[in-house]
Formats: sequence, C-alpha cells, structure tokens
Amino acid sequence: MGSITLKSVRKSFGEVEVIPDVDLEIEDGEFVVFVGPSGCGKSTLLRLIAGLEDVTSGQIVIDGQDMTQAAPARRGLAMVFQSYALYPHMSVRKNIAFPLKMSGMPAAEREKRVQHAAGILNLTDYLERRPGQLSGGQRQRVAIGRAIVREPSAFLFDEPLSNLDAALRVNMRVEISELHKKLATTMVYVTHDQVEAMTMADKIVVLRAGRVEQVGSPLDLYRAPANRFVAGFIGSPN
Ligand code: ADP
Ligand code: MG
Repeated sequence: MGSITLKSVRKSFGEVEVIPDVDLEIEDGEFVVFVGPSGCGKSTLLRLIAGLEDVTSGQIVIDGQDMTQAAPARRGLAMVFQSYALYPHMSVRKNIAFPLKMSGMPAAEREKRVQHAAGILNLTDYLERRPGQLSGGQRQRVAIGRAIVREPSAFLFDEPLSNLDAALRVNMRVEISELHKKLATTMVYVTHDQVEAMTMADKIVVLRAGRVEQVGSPLDLYRAPANRFVAGFIGSPN
C-alpha cells in the first residue's frame, strides 16, 4: 500500500501550462520530498495526486489502481495543510475525529483511533482543549492527527512547517521523520526549503517550472547534481 505513479501528467490553468509533463514513481513507504522555488508547481502536483485538481492529461495510479478520475475521498490519501485548517470552536478530540465523523464511523471506533493518534503525537493530555489554547507545534500535530486517524495509504504534506518559527521547525522536522519511521507509510512532502529536503527525504524530486530536473537520494543529488540548477538549489559544491 502507498505506491503512487504519475504517467505523463500535464496540467494547465487556462492558457498557462503549469505542469508540462511529469513522470514519477513513488514507492510504498518512501519519504519523498518535492522541492523547488516558489511557483514551480509543487502544490499543484500534490493537489493533482490528492485529486483536488483534475489533470489536463495523463494518469495517476495509486496502489496499482487508476485513480485519475477518482474523487479525493476515494484515493485513500490524507493531506496535511500549511494553514492547519482546524476548527477553532471544536476541541482537539473533535478536530481529530472530524473526518471519521463525516464518513459515518461509529463513535466507539472513532474514539479508539483518536486515542491511538493522540498517543503517537503526545496529544493525549490536550484532547479537551481548543486549537486557540495550543502552541503552533501542537496545532500542527492536531492537523497531522486528523490525517493519521484516516489510516491513509500515503500522507501528503504541503509546506506544513512554513508558519512555524525556526526552532520549532527543526523540532517538527524530527517529529515528522520519526512519525514516518513509526508508521512506515508513504509520505510526500512539499517544501521550498533545501535543508528540509536534504535532511528528511529518502528521495528528492527537484522541480523547476513544472518539470522534474532530477530525482534521487540526498546523497545522489549532492554528489552528482544533474545540472547547475540542481547544484545551486541544493547547495552542492559542483
Ligand atoms: P508552488 O507550490 O511550487 O509555489 P504552485 O503549484 O502553487 O507552485 O503554482 C505553480 C504555478 O501555477 C504558479 O504560477 C501559480 O500562479 C499557478 N497556479 C496555481 N494554481 C492556480 C490556479 N488555480 N489558477 C491559475 N494558476 C494557478
Ligand atoms: Mg505551494
């Protein structure tokens, strides 16, 4: 579970071609980072995988099934947003359980999953609080908890740490990496931050103007950048 394949994926908004042609293989359990400068199409690519945007052409295959036309909820993926998108009037417990409630899961099963996610994220003592009574890092964990309870085959993160201050960002990087180890679930993580990419990824996808410039491990990219753009972007000596 958790493999994602993009075949000749293209995306235009009106006249503007944002993703000219992307082929990509994400394997089960990998931590894959999409990195590239602002406006290069990272969020668009993630939203195409999530089903929040329709491809102009091409195919998206998830766990061996063609999901190109499938609604987001049918893809078995969970997206964690930058802005947290928490409900301020609901408790942490209700925020985390919200997607399960929407899908009609019985209360007892919901509570079991919330407890499990809260345990993993060290939120057990905060379940009665409102988002406004939490730190930025805790709010981010609630947003991740809301993804965990859905037991997705892959997590999709869009610059989840960009609202946090520098110190907290470093902590959350480690927390998300540890979460990946614990869950062993595919994670696709978008960032414009080279350090995040180099420290967190199993596999980095470097994007420029909607094109894949290089795919490789942090070490591959550091030792053998495909071109000057990649070298410059990831800070390799070449
Ligand atoms: P990134 O996440 O790498 O910063 P985006 O995927 O958000 O880049 O955007 C890539 C390009 O697509 C940008 O030029 C942006 O203006 C454009 N774009 C993104 N979403 C839309 C949209 N809904 N309508 C029109 N243009 C869009
Ligand atoms: Mg973006």
